[in-house]
Amino acid sequence: MKIFNTLSRRKEEFVPLEPGKVRMYVCGPTVYNLIHIGNARPMIVFDTVRRYFEYKGYEVNYVSNFTDVDDKIINKANEEGVDAAEISARYIAECKKDMEGLNVRPATTHPQATQEIPGMLEMIGTLIDNGHAYVAADGTVYFRTASFRDYGKLSHKNLDELQSGFREIKVTGEEGKEDPSDFVLWKPKKEGEPYWESAWCKGRPGWHIECSVMAKRYLGDQIDIHAGGEDLIFPHHENEIAQSECANGKPFATYWMHNAFLNIDNRKMSKSLGNFFTVRDISEKYDLQVLRFFMLSAHYRSPLNFSAELMEAAKNGLERIITGMDRLRDAAKTVQAGEPTAAEAEQIAQVRELVEKFEAAMDDDFNTADAIAAVFELIRLSNTTAEAGSSKAYISYLLETLQKLCDVLGIITECKAEVLDEEIEEMIARRQQARKEKNFALADEIRGKLLDMGIILEDTREGVKWRRA
Ligand code: AMP
Ligand code: ZN
Repeated sequence: MKIFNTLSRRKEEFVPLEPGKVRMYVCGPTVYNLIHIGNARPMIVFDTVRRYFEYKGYEVNYVSNFTDVDDKIINKANEEGVDAAEISARYIAECKKDMEGLNVRPATTHPQATQEIPGMLEMIGTLIDNGHAYVAADGTVYFRTASFRDYGKLSHKNLDELQSGFREIKVTGEEGKEDPSDFVLWKPKKEGEPYWESAWCKGRPGWHIECSVMAKRYLGDQIDIHAGGEDLIFPHHENEIAQSECANGKPFATYWMHNAFLNIDNRKMSKSLGNFFTVRDISEKYDLQVLRFFMLSAHYRSPLNFSAELMEAAKNGLERIITGMDRLRDAAKTVQAGEPTAAEAEQIAQVRELVEKFEAAMDDDFNTADAIAAVFELIRLSNTTAEAGSSKAYISYLLETLQKLCDVLGIITECKAEVLDEEIEEMIARRQQARKEKNFALADEIRGKLLDMGIILEDTREGVKWRRA
């Protein structure tokens, strides 16, 4: 498998630190609002990366954090007159709902910054002790970038250039810095802010330290993959490398993966520009699987422009896959037992080739666009060759194969109608029972519920019949 590594700016063969295992850290959102669909891009992309590793037989330890202490959270809490913890708890819960809708699996661990303060104090202490950090007069602790020879290796910036660039920018409140490119590890509290005790001052962590600490705690000093949106390359990930490598004395992540932006009118979708849709907005118009499919229709390192046309195209594409699989499930009801026919054996060989095509695309730096093209070819093959009367072996092979590939993409293809059928029958039976017991209120309630689901009941002489509205 090849992965494009931001560190080397090249595709590299994936070699895990430990055979058969992947340790992966993905920077998660700051939780002060509903996530927008730009934030959803790394979630979907790296969930798919995780799923593909698992498909290949790796055991993946996947860690993704929630940044739950930050200026934006504190501001929002002050606006609403509630605790910062209330804001972050609310939006973590909302974010998890969106993830579920997008079929993004929960991480192995979802640590939260405020729960990891002891680890942060310890790492900051180590950095001070070994000369990589210093305490200013007001108690702020800064990382000394000049002490780390490799500073700039991820963003391919040169420290001298960085320092002269930063020199132009004078930031009030940061007079205690030895150098303008130094960054905050710990800062004194201000009025109305949450804070923790420390040896340097009552205060709170800078943003970067949390990820170094969580990665160390849940994955170890060295990890295979560190990922996030490309806006995180500098300064966030550069600073994470500085902290982790200076504290642990080991290379931090082997591979750094960054997704390109989701744009709108060719500008990055962001809260600050106000040009965003939340995942919740989209869920009012589409099944969120459509959003997932839309995101995966482009390679993760290509910018992707959000538009109504592309969403419609994604919707149609997804429907084509679901309909194709429904057709197969229907055909499966009337299959012939026994061996595949000679023609089918040839088709099975074609299916194998398409699976190889899918895998080759995914092996090539997770090219989901090409992988989806292979799935479409498989659907086409299935639509033209599988039918009632085909052999059970052939139909089952097609169905299982398609399901496996769709699982990698995180697309749910279950025949919703079938699941629904059982549910409907069961509700109708309960309604009949209620009527028998002369509990007409309950019977009506069930009828109402069914109507909400788009199911119309007709009481006929032969019994209850139902149809979709
Ligand atoms: P934030 O809450 O801003 O820290 O963002 C959480 C994650 O979403 C990070 O990995 C960001 O890089 C990513 N992200 C934010 N906006 C976009 C966007 N428009 N397109 C792609 N990724 C984004
Ligand atoms: Zn991070």
